Amino acid sequence: MKILKFGGTSVGSAQRIKGLLDIVDPKERQIVVLSAVAGTTNALVEISQAFLAGKRETAIELIKTHKNKYEHLIKELFQTEQGQEKGKNLIDYHFNYISSLGNEMFTPVEEKITLAQGELLSTTLFHFHLEEIGVPSVLLPALDFMKIDEDNEPIVEYIAEKLSNLISIHGSNQLFITQGYICRNSFGEIDNLRRGGSDYTASLIGAAIQADEVQIWTDIDGMHNNDPRVVKNTSPIANLSFDEAAELAYFGAKILHPQSVFPAQKYNVPVRLLNTMDPQATGTLISKEGGTTGQIRAIAAKDDITAIHIHSSRMLLAYGFLRKIFEIFERYKTPIDMITTSEVAVSLTIDDTRNLGDIIKEVEDFGRVSVDHNQTIVCVVGDFSANTHGYAARVLDAVKHLPLRMVSYGGSDYNVSMVLDTEHKTEALRSLHNRLF
Ligand code: ASP
Ligand code: MG
Repeated sequence: MKILKFGGTSVGSAQRIKGLLDIVDPKERQIVVLSAVAGTTNALVEISQAFLAGKRETAIELIKTHKNKYEHLIKELFQTEQGQEKGKNLIDYHFNYISSLGNEMFTPVEEKITLAQGELLSTTLFHFHLEEIGVPSVLLPALDFMKIDEDNEPIVEYIAEKLSNLISIHGSNQLFITQGYICRNSFGEIDNLRRGGSDYTASLIGAAIQADEVQIWTDIDGMHNNDPRVVKNTSPIANLSFDEAAELAYFGAKILHPQSVFPAQKYNVPVRLLNTMDPQATGTLISKEGGTTGQIRAIAAKDDITAIHIHSSRMLLAYGFLRKIFEIFERYKTPIDMITTSEVAVSLTIDDTRNLGDIIKEVEDFGRVSVDHNQTIVCVVGDFSANTHGYAARVLDAVKHLPLRMVSYGGSDYNVSMVLDTEHKTEALRSLHNRLF
């Protein structure tokens, strides 16, 4: 069985929804995972924020505007009167429901319910469309099988069991449709897998049912060897290993949700990145065998990084020092991305600065602390194992005219990362591209 995930722009209009059948072959056994229609989740975030802030009128106005878009969409999507009617009832139901949540009891719980409506809408619209044109499909409610635990980690065994049951009930069916992004948490409440989480859903489903392949359909022809928005003449990479893909997805290659690599890797399910606008293009295949030796594969960058520098003579010859520092970040649930150390100092980076003030206050007990904002991590992925020498030198040579804040080499065999001021990012990416490819 294959899993096919389509992002928001791939279901962004009536025409695109109908166009899904150019790619989805209803005779093949598969699960189609859909994001919300492009722009919807952003709108739902805005609506929730208005409700949370007690601005009910603003929220209702936003709901109206957004519902309007859907009214246009269903007019174009459905041919029959019955189809129109079903579409109309559907959007009435979801938007009325969102409005009904908006009272003084609107809490983060209601917010998550609101955010879930986007995927519920897109999948049902596609299902109704198929019904109208006589293509059998089964809508699988993600809220009946997609579950995360108290640490927000998906429970793959649970997903596997519930999903297999649901599929076996509809044993004779081929085409299944389900919602990306949404799930239930450990309290059984409606929750989600964070923004961009539909890729993660697809990968989790692929892992849970041991799929043959997970296909992520977007609007670019695979993962590129540099950021196409910044550098000219980038090219898609045909094959990547899971490790390489994880590094690239995390460090800025926006095309794939970083966490989605891990379930696929753990259960060895290949992931293919494909382009809805150009379905014949080869895209990128991420698999166990996808790595190559003796090559630099790609360059990626991640902005909005904050670098924290801790200088402490107490670190000298001491043990347990780093643990104490890391514990502070752990307590504030703040992931550390990159670290570099010397005997008396340590530098590290974070991208979630919500608790920065409190973290710094605590870290200051251990030494002198300075913080640099507006930093960028530039990451070069390739074969940097110790026995292929010279590549790290080429990387550093390409950026020798730029002030580097941190350099990390040797953490893994396939990555060299650097931190520099965001104002130097464009030059770093271009210079690396020209020297390395
Ligand atoms: N609709 C959600 C979002 O916009 C999930 C996704 O599209 O992957 O973040
Ligand atoms: Mg996405």
